[in-house]
Amino acid sequence: MTIKTATPIIKPKPAPKPDRAPKGNVGAKTGQRFSRQREQILKIVLGTKSHPTADWVYDQVRLKIPSVSLGTVYRNLNLLADDGKITRVILEDGKVRFDGNTGEHYHFICTNSGKVIDLDGKFDASLLEKFNRKTGMNATACKIEFYGKL
Ligand SMILES: [Zn+2]
Repeated sequence: MTIKTATPIIKPKPAPKPDRAPKGNVGAKTGQRFSRQREQILKIVLGTKSHPTADWVYDQVRLKIPSVSLGTVYRNLNLLADDGKITRVILEDGKVRFDGNTGEHYHFICTNSGKVIDLDGKFDASLLEKFNRKTGMNATACKIEFYGKL
């Protein structure tokens, strides 16, 4: 007589349920890092009246966050500009500068140095209205830049 030994049935362990918590945390951490970088970039642009280039902003951010990449700085500057938190000033040569002053204002741009200066003085809001009346267009914004040598 043979005694059958019951072969223990080894049930495969159920696959561990994906633990969402760590993933979520990683995402949150990454998100925090991104928002920290974006905040820092915004702070730098808001803290200067120099209408900086992305390269200048990059140099400043690196002092605070050495691991930041130029691509990240470019991406965040563009996101901030798309969100209306900063604006872009596009120079004649196509180079882009960033401006923390989002209110309507005039610029003076030096054709020698590329320096961009905010001009004091009230922005003539009636210009838009006059333009729309005259052309039948529906312009919603207007940017005026004066060029000359400083
Ligand atoms: Zn400006």
